[in-house]
Amino acid sequence: MSSHEVLLLTTLLIHVVVAMVWWSGGSLLSLSRRAASHWLAGVMAHGLGIVLFLLAGRRAELLTLAGSLGAFGFLVIRRGLQWFLRQRQPDRLHAAIVVVLIALPIVGAVWPAAGAYTNAGSSGIVVVLAVLTARDCAEGITREFGTGARWAVAAPLLLAALLFAARIAGALSGALTGQPGGARLTSPGSAGEVALTFAFLLVQITLNFGLAYLVVVRLVARLRHLSQHDGLTGLLNRRAIETLIEREAQRLQRFGEPYAVLLADVDHFKRINDRLGHAGGDAVLCAVAQVLMQQAREVDRVARYGGEEFCVLLPHTGEEGALHAAQRLRDALRAQPVRWGEESIDVRLSIGVAAAGGSESVADLLRRADQALYAAKSAGRDTVIVAAGHKPTRDEDPALAS
Ligand code: GH3
Ligand code: MG
Ligand code: MG
Repeated sequence: MSSHEVLLLTTLLIHVVVAMVWWSGGSLLSLSRRAASHWLAGVMAHGLGIVLFLLAGRRAELLTLAGSLGAFGFLVIRRGLQWFLRQRQPDRLHAAIVVVLIALPIVGAVWPAAGAYTNAGSSGIVVVLAVLTARDCAEGITREFGTGARWAVAAPLLLAALLFAARIAGALSGALTGQPGGARLTSPGSAGEVALTFAFLLVQITLNFGLAYLVVVRLVARLRHLSQHDGLTGLLNRRAIETLIEREAQRLQRFGEPYAVLLADVDHFKRINDRLGHAGGDAVLCAVAQVLMQQAREVDRVARYGGEEFCVLLPHTGEEGALHAAQRLRDALRAQPVRWGEESIDVRLSIGVAAAGGSESVADLLRRADQALYAAKSAGRDTVIVAAGHKPTRDEDPALAS
Protein backbone atom coordinates (compact mmCIF):
# COMPACT_ATOMS: atom_id res chain seq x y z
CA MET A 1 0.00 0.00 0.00
CA SER A 2 1.44 3.37 -0.99
CA SER A 3 1.81 6.23 1.48
CA HIS A 4 -0.86 8.09 -0.47
CA GLU A 5 -3.33 5.25 0.05
CA VAL A 6 -2.47 5.06 3.76
CA LEU A 7 -3.15 8.80 4.02
CA LEU A 8 -6.47 8.37 2.26
CA LEU A 9 -7.54 5.49 4.49
CA THR A 10 -6.45 7.30 7.67
CA THR A 11 -8.44 10.35 6.62
CA LEU A 12 -11.52 8.28 5.84
CA LEU A 13 -11.26 6.35 9.10
CA ILE A 14 -10.96 9.48 11.25
CA HIS A 15 -13.91 11.15 9.56
CA VAL A 16 -16.08 8.04 9.80
CA VAL A 17 -15.28 7.70 13.52
CA VAL A 18 -16.01 11.37 14.25
CA ALA A 19 -19.21 11.22 12.16
CA MET A 20 -20.33 8.12 14.09
CA VAL A 21 -19.73 9.94 17.38
CA TRP A 22 -22.06 12.77 16.30
CA TRP A 23 -24.58 10.37 14.82
CA SER A 24 -24.83 8.28 17.98
CA GLY A 25 -24.44 11.36 20.21
CA GLY A 26 -27.22 13.14 18.34
CA SER A 27 -29.65 10.26 18.73
CA LEU A 28 -28.74 9.67 22.37
CA LEU A 29 -28.71 13.27 23.54
CA SER A 30 -32.02 14.98 23.08
CA LEU A 31 -30.15 17.93 24.56
CA SER A 32 -28.32 19.01 21.39
CA ARG A 33 -29.73 16.81 18.65
CA ARG A 34 -30.03 19.64 16.19
CA ALA A 35 -26.47 20.87 16.76
CA ALA A 36 -25.15 17.29 16.58
CA SER A 37 -26.87 16.72 13.22
CA HIS A 38 -25.23 19.89 11.88
CA TRP A 39 -21.84 18.78 13.15
CA LEU A 40 -22.38 15.35 11.60
CA ALA A 41 -23.10 17.03 8.24
CA GLY A 42 -20.01 19.22 8.70
CA VAL A 43 -17.75 16.23 9.33
CA MET A 44 -19.16 14.40 6.30
CA ALA A 45 -18.59 17.42 4.07
CA HIS A 46 -15.04 17.74 5.39
CA GLY A 47 -14.39 14.03 4.87
CA LEU A 48 -15.60 14.17 1.27
CA GLY A 49 -13.66 17.39 0.68
CA ILE A 50 -10.34 16.06 1.90
CA VAL A 51 -10.73 12.73 0.08
CA LEU A 52 -11.44 14.69 -3.08
CA PHE A 53 -8.41 16.89 -2.39
CA LEU A 54 -6.25 13.77 -2.14
CA LEU A 55 -7.67 12.31 -5.37
CA ALA A 56 -7.88 15.53 -7.41
CA GLY A 57 -4.27 15.61 -8.55
CA ARG A 58 -3.79 18.96 -10.26
CA ARG A 59 -7.35 19.30 -11.59
CA ALA A 60 -8.31 22.79 -10.49
CA GLU A 61 -12.09 22.31 -10.72
CA LEU A 62 -11.87 19.26 -8.41
CA LEU A 63 -9.59 21.18 -6.05
CA THR A 64 -12.16 23.99 -6.07
CA LEU A 65 -14.94 21.46 -5.36
CA ALA A 66 -12.85 20.09 -2.48
CA GLY A 67 -12.46 23.66 -1.17
CA SER A 68 -16.20 24.26 -1.54
CA LEU A 69 -16.97 21.09 0.44
CA GLY A 70 -14.53 22.24 3.11
CA ALA A 71 -16.20 25.65 3.27
CA PHE A 72 -19.66 24.04 3.35
CA GLY A 73 -18.47 21.89 6.26
CA PHE A 74 -17.40 24.98 8.21
CA LEU A 75 -20.70 26.68 7.36
CA VAL A 76 -22.84 23.89 8.80
CA ILE A 77 -20.55 23.55 11.81
CA ARG A 78 -21.03 27.28 12.38
CA ARG A 79 -24.81 26.91 12.12
CA GLY A 80 -24.71 23.97 14.53
CA LEU A 81 -22.74 26.06 17.00
CA GLN A 82 -25.23 28.89 16.63
CA TRP A 83 -28.09 26.47 17.34
CA PHE A 84 -26.23 25.14 20.32
CA LEU A 85 -25.62 28.64 21.71
CA ARG A 86 -29.17 29.77 20.78
CA GLN A 87 -27.80 32.54 18.61
CA ARG A 88 -29.57 34.18 15.70
CA GLN A 89 -28.60 32.67 12.34
CA PRO A 90 -28.01 35.00 9.41
CA ASP A 91 -29.93 32.73 6.98
CA ARG A 92 -29.64 35.01 3.97
CA LEU A 93 -25.89 35.39 4.28
CA HIS A 94 -25.51 31.63 4.70
CA ALA A 95 -27.73 30.95 1.67
CA ALA A 96 -25.67 33.40 -0.41
CA ILE A 97 -22.47 31.62 0.66
CA VAL A 98 -23.94 28.24 -0.41
CA VAL A 99 -24.81 29.69 -3.85
CA VAL A 100 -21.23 30.96 -4.28
CA LEU A 101 -19.84 27.60 -3.09
CA ILE A 102 -21.90 25.79 -5.76
CA ALA A 103 -21.00 28.32 -8.46
CA LEU A 104 -17.23 28.26 -7.90
CA PRO A 105 -16.52 24.64 -8.99
CA ILE A 106 -18.92 25.04 -11.94
CA VAL A 107 -17.02 28.13 -13.08
CA GLY A 108 -13.76 26.24 -12.51
CA ALA A 109 -14.98 23.33 -14.68
CA VAL A 110 -16.38 25.51 -17.47
CA TRP A 111 -13.46 27.91 -17.56
CA PRO A 112 -10.30 26.00 -16.55
CA ALA A 113 -8.09 29.09 -16.92
CA ALA A 114 -9.88 30.62 -13.93
CA GLY A 115 -9.21 27.51 -11.81
CA ALA A 116 -6.63 29.17 -9.63
CA TYR A 117 -9.02 31.93 -8.73
CA THR A 118 -12.01 29.67 -8.04
CA ASN A 119 -9.73 27.50 -5.93
CA ALA A 120 -8.50 30.55 -4.04
CA GLY A 121 -12.12 31.75 -3.74
CA SER A 122 -13.41 28.58 -2.04
CA SER A 123 -10.42 28.63 0.32
CA GLY A 124 -11.05 32.31 1.02
CA ILE A 125 -14.60 31.50 2.13
CA VAL A 126 -13.20 28.92 4.58
CA VAL A 127 -10.86 31.55 6.03
CA VAL A 128 -13.70 34.06 6.47
CA LEU A 129 -16.11 31.47 7.93
CA ALA A 130 -13.54 30.08 10.36
CA VAL A 131 -12.52 33.53 11.63
CA LEU A 132 -16.14 34.77 11.84
CA THR A 133 -17.26 31.65 13.71
CA ALA A 134 -14.39 31.94 16.20
CA ARG A 135 -15.33 35.59 16.74
CA ASP A 136 -19.14 35.32 16.79
CA CYS A 137 -19.33 32.33 19.13
CA ALA A 138 -16.60 33.50 21.52
CA GLU A 139 -18.90 35.45 23.82
CA GLY A 140 -21.62 32.79 24.02
CA ILE A 141 -19.09 30.04 24.76
CA THR A 142 -17.18 32.09 27.34
CA ARG A 143 -20.41 33.04 29.15
CA GLU A 144 -21.62 29.47 29.54
CA PHE A 145 -18.42 27.41 29.53
CA GLY A 146 -15.50 29.72 30.38
CA THR A 147 -12.42 30.98 28.55
CA GLY A 148 -10.76 27.55 28.23
CA ALA A 149 -13.72 26.19 26.25
CA ARG A 150 -13.70 29.27 24.07
CA TRP A 151 -10.14 28.58 23.01
CA ALA A 152 -10.84 24.86 22.63
CA VAL A 153 -13.17 25.84 19.78
CA ALA A 154 -11.46 29.00 18.51
CA ALA A 155 -7.91 27.58 18.24
CA PRO A 156 -8.77 24.82 15.70
CA LEU A 157 -10.85 27.31 13.73
CA LEU A 158 -7.95 29.76 13.55
CA LEU A 159 -5.59 26.93 12.58
CA ALA A 160 -8.03 26.06 9.76
CA ALA A 161 -7.99 29.70 8.66
CA LEU A 162 -4.18 29.59 8.50
CA LEU A 163 -4.17 26.35 6.51
CA PHE A 164 -6.62 27.63 3.94
CA ALA A 165 -4.78 30.94 3.71
CA ALA A 166 -1.76 28.83 2.69
CA ARG A 167 -3.99 27.14 0.09
CA ILE A 168 -4.90 30.55 -1.34
CA ALA A 169 -1.20 31.41 -1.54
CA GLY A 170 -0.55 28.10 -3.34
CA ALA A 171 -3.36 28.63 -5.85
CA LEU A 172 -2.43 32.24 -6.60
CA SER A 173 1.31 31.55 -6.88
CA GLY A 174 0.43 28.71 -9.28
CA ALA A 175 -1.58 31.17 -11.38
CA LEU A 176 1.26 33.74 -11.34
CA THR A 177 3.84 31.17 -12.43
CA GLY A 178 1.54 30.25 -15.31
CA GLN A 179 0.55 26.74 -14.26
CA PRO A 180 -2.73 25.84 -15.96
CA GLY A 181 -5.68 25.88 -13.62
CA GLY A 182 -3.62 27.10 -10.69
CA ALA A 183 -1.41 24.64 -8.92
CA ARG A 184 -1.75 23.35 -5.41
CA LEU A 185 0.84 24.33 -2.83
CA THR A 186 2.08 20.75 -2.60
CA SER A 187 2.32 18.14 -5.30
CA PRO A 188 0.18 15.01 -4.95
CA GLY A 189 1.83 12.32 -2.83
CA SER A 190 4.57 14.67 -1.55
CA ALA A 191 5.67 15.12 2.04
CA GLY A 192 4.08 18.59 1.92
CA GLU A 193 0.73 17.07 1.08
CA VAL A 194 1.03 14.61 3.96
CA ALA A 195 1.83 17.52 6.30
CA LEU A 196 -1.13 19.57 5.04
CA THR A 197 -3.50 16.64 5.30
CA PHE A 198 -2.38 15.85 8.83
CA ALA A 199 -2.70 19.51 9.78
CA PHE A 200 -6.30 19.41 8.53
CA LEU A 201 -6.95 16.18 10.43
CA LEU A 202 -5.59 17.90 13.52
CA VAL A 203 -8.08 20.73 12.96
CA GLN A 204 -10.86 18.21 12.53
CA ILE A 205 -10.06 16.21 15.65
CA THR A 206 -9.43 19.21 17.93
CA LEU A 207 -12.47 21.13 16.66
CA ASN A 208 -14.78 18.16 17.20
CA PHE A 209 -13.18 17.50 20.57
CA GLY A 210 -13.89 21.15 21.50
CA LEU A 211 -17.52 20.85 20.38
CA ALA A 212 -17.96 17.52 22.21
CA TYR A 213 -16.50 19.17 25.32
CA LEU A 214 -19.23 21.85 25.16
CA VAL A 215 -21.92 19.19 24.83
CA VAL A 216 -20.59 17.16 27.76
CA VAL A 217 -20.19 20.20 30.03
CA ARG A 218 -23.76 21.31 29.26
CA LEU A 219 -25.04 17.79 29.83
CA VAL A 220 -23.28 17.50 33.19
CA ALA A 221 -24.62 20.91 34.25
CA ARG A 222 -28.13 19.86 33.20
CA LEU A 223 -27.89 16.58 35.12
CA ARG A 224 -26.52 18.35 38.17
CA HIS A 225 -29.42 20.82 38.01
CA LEU A 226 -31.95 17.97 37.68
CA SER A 227 -30.44 16.13 40.62
CA GLN A 228 -30.64 19.22 42.84
CA HIS A 229 -33.96 20.76 41.84
CA ASP A 230 -37.62 19.95 42.08
CA GLY A 231 -39.21 19.36 38.68
CA LEU A 232 -42.50 21.10 39.50
CA THR A 233 -41.51 24.31 41.26
CA GLY A 234 -37.88 24.66 40.16
CA LEU A 235 -36.86 25.07 43.82
CA LEU A 236 -34.01 23.10 45.35
CA ASN A 237 -35.01 19.58 46.35
CA ARG A 238 -34.72 17.95 49.74
CA ARG A 239 -31.31 16.38 49.09
CA ALA A 240 -29.81 19.67 47.94
CA ILE A 241 -31.11 21.73 50.88
CA GLU A 242 -29.94 19.11 53.37
CA THR A 243 -26.45 19.29 51.88
CA LEU A 244 -26.51 23.07 52.26
CA ILE A 245 -27.73 22.78 55.84
CA GLU A 246 -24.86 20.38 56.58
CA ARG A 247 -22.46 22.98 55.23
CA GLU A 248 -24.00 25.67 57.48
CA ALA A 249 -23.66 23.29 60.43
CA GLN A 250 -19.94 23.00 59.70
CA ARG A 251 -19.62 26.79 59.53
CA LEU A 252 -21.39 27.05 62.90
CA GLN A 253 -18.92 24.58 64.40
CA ARG A 254 -15.86 26.27 62.91
CA PHE A 255 -16.72 29.99 62.99
CA GLY A 256 -19.70 30.16 65.38
CA GLU A 257 -21.83 31.47 62.51
CA PRO A 258 -25.54 31.12 63.49
CA TYR A 259 -28.22 29.84 61.13
CA ALA A 260 -31.83 28.75 61.23
CA VAL A 261 -34.28 26.65 59.27
CA LEU A 262 -37.99 27.04 58.59
CA LEU A 263 -40.30 24.16 57.73
CA ALA A 264 -43.50 25.44 56.14
CA ASP A 265 -46.53 23.34 55.26
CA VAL A 266 -49.55 24.47 53.25
CA ASP A 267 -52.69 24.30 55.38
CA HIS A 268 -55.49 22.01 54.25
CA PHE A 269 -53.85 21.45 50.93
CA LYS A 270 -55.97 18.36 50.39
CA ARG A 271 -59.03 20.63 50.26
CA ILE A 272 -57.30 22.81 47.64
CA ASN A 273 -56.57 19.70 45.57
CA ASP A 274 -60.17 18.53 45.97
CA ARG A 275 -61.49 21.92 44.90
CA LEU A 276 -59.16 22.66 41.98
CA GLY A 277 -58.02 19.21 40.91
CA HIS A 278 -54.43 18.04 40.87
CA ALA A 279 -53.33 20.54 38.19
CA GLY A 280 -54.79 23.40 40.23
CA GLY A 281 -53.00 22.06 43.31
CA ASP A 282 -49.75 22.02 41.34
CA ALA A 283 -50.31 25.62 40.26
CA VAL A 284 -50.85 26.61 43.91
CA LEU A 285 -47.58 24.90 44.88
CA CYS A 286 -45.77 26.87 42.16
CA ALA A 287 -47.36 30.11 43.35
CA VAL A 288 -46.31 29.40 46.95
CA ALA A 289 -42.77 28.64 45.73
CA GLN A 290 -42.69 31.94 43.89
CA VAL A 291 -43.82 33.92 46.94
CA LEU A 292 -41.20 32.19 49.11
CA MET A 293 -38.49 32.97 46.56
CA GLN A 294 -39.56 36.61 46.32
CA GLN A 295 -39.56 37.05 50.07
CA ALA A 296 -36.30 35.23 50.76
CA ARG A 297 -33.04 37.16 50.95
CA GLU A 298 -30.40 36.49 48.33
CA VAL A 299 -28.39 34.38 50.74
CA ASP A 300 -31.40 32.32 51.85
CA ARG A 301 -32.12 29.00 50.18
CA VAL A 302 -35.65 27.77 49.52
CA ALA A 303 -36.48 24.13 48.81
CA ARG A 304 -39.50 21.94 48.25
CA TYR A 305 -39.06 19.51 51.09
CA GLY A 306 -41.92 17.15 50.34
CA GLY A 307 -45.42 17.19 48.78
CA GLU A 308 -46.72 20.56 50.04
CA GLU A 309 -43.93 21.20 52.48
CA PHE A 310 -41.14 23.73 52.01
CA CYS A 311 -37.84 24.30 53.79
CA VAL A 312 -36.02 27.62 54.02
CA LEU A 313 -32.39 27.85 55.15
CA LEU A 314 -31.50 31.19 56.70
CA PRO A 315 -27.73 31.64 57.02
CA HIS A 316 -26.34 34.20 59.45
CA THR A 317 -29.67 34.30 61.31
CA GLY A 318 -30.57 33.72 64.96
CA GLU A 319 -33.89 32.74 66.49
CA GLU A 320 -35.41 36.23 66.49
CA GLY A 321 -34.46 36.96 62.89
CA ALA A 322 -35.80 33.58 61.80
CA LEU A 323 -39.13 34.25 63.55
CA HIS A 324 -39.47 37.58 61.72
CA ALA A 325 -38.57 35.95 58.39
CA ALA A 326 -41.19 33.24 58.93
CA GLN A 327 -43.87 35.79 59.81
CA ARG A 328 -42.93 37.79 56.72
CA LEU A 329 -43.35 34.71 54.50
CA ARG A 330 -46.69 33.82 56.04
CA ASP A 331 -47.96 37.40 55.75
CA ALA A 332 -46.80 37.71 52.13
CA LEU A 333 -48.80 34.61 51.22
CA ARG A 334 -51.81 35.89 53.15
CA ALA A 335 -51.68 39.12 51.12
CA GLN A 336 -51.54 37.33 47.77
CA PRO A 337 -54.48 35.02 47.03
CA VAL A 338 -53.54 32.57 44.29
CA ARG A 339 -55.53 32.82 41.06
CA TRP A 340 -56.55 29.67 39.23
CA GLY A 341 -58.84 30.35 36.31
CA GLU A 342 -61.84 32.18 37.73
CA GLU A 343 -61.04 31.14 41.27
CA SER A 344 -59.10 33.02 43.89
CA ILE A 345 -57.67 30.80 46.60
CA ASP A 346 -56.49 31.95 50.00
CA VAL A 347 -53.42 29.87 50.78
CA ARG A 348 -52.16 29.66 54.33
CA LEU A 349 -48.93 28.36 55.77
CA SER A 350 -48.02 26.84 59.11
CA ILE A 351 -44.34 27.29 59.88
CA GLY A 352 -41.97 25.69 62.36
CA VAL A 353 -38.80 27.65 63.15
CA ALA A 354 -35.59 26.19 64.58
CA ALA A 355 -32.35 28.09 65.19
CA ALA A 356 -29.22 25.95 65.24
CA GLY A 357 -27.19 25.75 68.41
CA GLY A 358 -24.20 23.95 69.84
CA SER A 359 -23.10 20.78 68.12
CA GLU A 360 -26.66 19.58 67.47
CA SER A 361 -26.88 17.35 64.40
CA VAL A 362 -28.75 18.53 61.32
CA ALA A 363 -31.21 15.68 61.77
CA ASP A 364 -31.98 16.88 65.33
CA LEU A 365 -32.36 20.48 64.16
CA LEU A 366 -34.84 19.42 61.46
CA ARG A 367 -36.67 17.26 63.99
CA ARG A 368 -37.13 20.32 66.24
CA ALA A 369 -38.37 22.38 63.27
CA ASP A 370 -40.83 19.59 62.39
CA GLN A 371 -42.10 19.44 65.98
CA ALA A 372 -42.62 23.22 65.89
CA LEU A 373 -44.51 22.84 62.60
CA TYR A 374 -46.67 20.15 64.17
CA ALA A 375 -47.34 22.51 67.10
CA ALA A 376 -48.32 25.26 64.63
CA LYS A 377 -50.85 22.88 63.06
CA SER A 378 -52.20 21.98 66.49
CA ALA A 379 -52.46 25.65 67.41
CA GLY A 380 -54.97 26.17 64.61
CA ARG A 381 -52.71 26.53 61.51
CA ASP A 382 -51.73 29.79 59.71
CA THR A 383 -49.28 30.17 62.57
CA VAL A 384 -45.53 30.43 63.22
CA ILE A 385 -44.08 28.53 66.17
CA VAL A 386 -40.45 28.64 67.30
CA ALA A 387 -39.00 25.31 68.43
CA ALA A 388 -37.85 24.96 72.01
CA GLY A 389 -34.11 25.69 72.13
CA HIS A 390 -31.52 22.99 71.65
CA LYS A 391 -30.56 21.48 74.98
CA PRO A 392 -26.75 21.40 75.36
CA THR A 393 -25.25 17.96 75.88
CA ARG A 394 -22.62 17.16 78.52
CA ASP A 395 -19.93 17.52 75.87
CA GLU A 396 -21.08 21.01 74.90
CA ASP A 397 -21.65 22.38 78.39
CA PRO A 398 -18.94 21.53 80.98
CA ALA A 399 -21.32 22.62 83.76
CA LEU A 400 -23.52 19.60 82.98
CA ALA A 401 -20.61 17.25 83.27
CA SER A 402 -19.91 18.13 86.88
P1 GH3 B 1 -52.63 20.06 56.91
O1 GH3 B 1 -53.19 21.42 57.08
O2 GH3 B 1 -52.74 19.24 58.15
O3 GH3 B 1 -51.25 20.08 56.39
O4 GH3 B 1 -53.55 19.32 55.86
P2 GH3 B 1 -53.18 18.96 54.38
O5 GH3 B 1 -54.44 18.60 53.69
O6 GH3 B 1 -52.39 20.04 53.77
O7 GH3 B 1 -52.18 17.77 54.61
P3 GH3 B 1 -52.10 16.30 54.09
O8 GH3 B 1 -50.70 15.87 54.39
O9 GH3 B 1 -53.19 15.47 54.69
O10 GH3 B 1 -52.31 16.39 52.53
C1 GH3 B 1 -51.32 16.85 51.67
C2 GH3 B 1 -51.81 16.57 50.27
O11 GH3 B 1 -50.88 17.09 49.30
C3 GH3 B 1 -51.93 15.10 49.96
C4 GH3 B 1 -51.32 14.94 48.59
O12 GH3 B 1 -52.22 14.33 47.71
C5 GH3 B 1 -51.05 16.34 48.12
N1 GH3 B 1 -49.87 16.45 47.32
C6 GH3 B 1 -48.61 16.01 47.61
N2 GH3 B 1 -47.76 16.30 46.61
C7 GH3 B 1 -48.49 16.94 45.65
C8 GH3 B 1 -48.18 17.51 44.38
O13 GH3 B 1 -47.04 17.48 43.89
N3 GH3 B 1 -49.17 18.11 43.69
C9 GH3 B 1 -50.46 18.15 44.18
N4 GH3 B 1 -51.39 18.77 43.47
N5 GH3 B 1 -50.77 17.64 45.36
C10 GH3 B 1 -49.82 17.03 46.10
MG1 MG C 1 -50.49 20.51 54.55
MG1 MG D 1 -47.75 18.03 54.69
